[in-house]
Amino acid sequence: MLIQSENPATGEVVKRFTPHTDEQVDTKIAKSHAAYQILRKWSFEARATCMRRAANILRAEAEALGAIVTLEMGKTFKSAIGEVKKCAVGADFYADTAQAHMADEVIESGATKSYRAYHPIGPVLAVMPWNYPIWQVVRFAAPALMAGNTGLLKHASNVPQCALYIEDVFNRAGFPDGAFQTLLIAGSKVERVLRHEQVRAATLTGSEAAGGSVASICGQEIMPTVLELGGSDPFIVMPSADIDKAVSVGVIARNQNNGQSCIAGKRFIVHADIYDAFKAKFVANIESLTIGDPADPKTDIGPLVNQSSLKEISEQVQSAVKDGATLLTGGTIIDGPGYYFKPGVLENIPKGSKAFHEEIFGPVAALYKVGSLDEAIELGNDSPFGLSSSIWTNEATEIDQAIREIEAGATFVNSMTASDPRLPFGGIKRSGYGRELSAEGIRAFCNVKTVSIA
Ligand code: NAP
Repeated sequence: MLIQSENPATGEVVKRFTPHTDEQVDTKIAKSHAAYQILRKWSFEARATCMRRAANILRAEAEALGAIVTLEMGKTFKSAIGEVKKCAVGADFYADTAQAHMADEVIESGATKSYRAYHPIGPVLAVMPWNYPIWQVVRFAAPALMAGNTGLLKHASNVPQCALYIEDVFNRAGFPDGAFQTLLIAGSKVERVLRHEQVRAATLTGSEAAGGSVASICGQEIMPTVLELGGSDPFIVMPSADIDKAVSVGVIARNQNNGQSCIAGKRFIVHADIYDAFKAKFVANIESLTIGDPADPKTDIGPLVNQSSLKEISEQVQSAVKDGATLLTGGTIIDGPGYYFKPGVLENIPKGSKAFHEEIFGPVAALYKVGSLDEAIELGNDSPFGLSSSIWTNEATEIDQAIREIEAGATFVNSMTASDPRLPFGGIKRSGYGRELSAEGIRAFCNVKTVSIA
């Protein structure tokens, strides 16, 4: 893939980048290792001072960086600013909590003293996607740097300006030279980095194909990995729910980030008693969304990221219809410059068809009618993915059952899924393994050292 910024709103390539050579990459890895020898010895206070500075830079430059995000991947400018500000919150969170998350934990064992200690492990490679091009990186980098690890970023090839900007933020914040570096390389060059003896761990957010490849190389290299992959989250609505709220939040959940979010509610599983009412309001609400220039504050939905994504989403809709699904609205490419797609709603997707099991990584909702919560959970779990889930009900027994029985990394009750630095984030099944954020996010790349003093 070419490393370049292509504006999805116009299709115009605005900047091209020369990839780093193997020699340049080796120099950066050596620098990362050298920076690790420094950062691991810094106090938590010293790391936190730099991390708070990074947070302040992100807050102060939210508009400038937000504009680059919008230019490179097409999300609305207002949501891009929101993303950058959220990164500042995430950076502050780890500045405030890293020391407590990594504090020694005494364990009585009969020794004079025995305890669990958390130590950094070295340079970590982060392979990241374009959809939340700043947040995905900061949610890895903030805990990594606060733990005393160093970061090497291989960002998606279409967001190089975002990648270089983040590197610059951590440099300006005062971290040791080389503590956080961007590698401008293609996916095909990732293996070479993973096989480098000074690289100690990897985290990947992206597709199953990329995750499987990175995980198998890391398996051979005996390296820890965290994988954050795709999702097809169920959004279950029961009769006792506030239907209007479930509709309005459901429309946001499915169409946020121009429909390109891993934790979007994608399968709307609605009880038969309220199905028709939900469907009518849901479709009307989707038809009222404003599609257009992502820089315009009135826009709800901007373009998809690129031409191939536009083609793929359109083909997924057509294939679902061919297999027997009904297209209730939208689901078509909008003519003209830019990669615009009319948000769609499908129903009656036959079990066993491709669309039933695939993730649709674009603004297309799938509606399903069920007769009971048991049926809703069974349908929700009938997916290769298990990232997150959302249940809408005011019955306590239904809430308990959903929390216990839905197979997913998270269940949100009467709200949509959202990542929060205070809460662990990650999936099961083909959505990946390991957790980011919260205590788990910083401990993921730590040596949990057993200490026993006779
Ligand atoms: P992708 O193609 O897998 O790209 C993600 C990253 O992996 C990019 O940096 C890409 O580089 C790199 N890459 C691609 N193939 C690779 C390979 N064989 N070896 C090493 N690196 C490789 O993912 P995408 O299609 O852009 O992103 C959408 C997917 O990400 C969706 O499935 C979505 O659900 C998932 N996602 C998951 C989460 C989560 O937290 N669970 C969050 C966001 C997105 P290039 O750009 O150079 O190809």
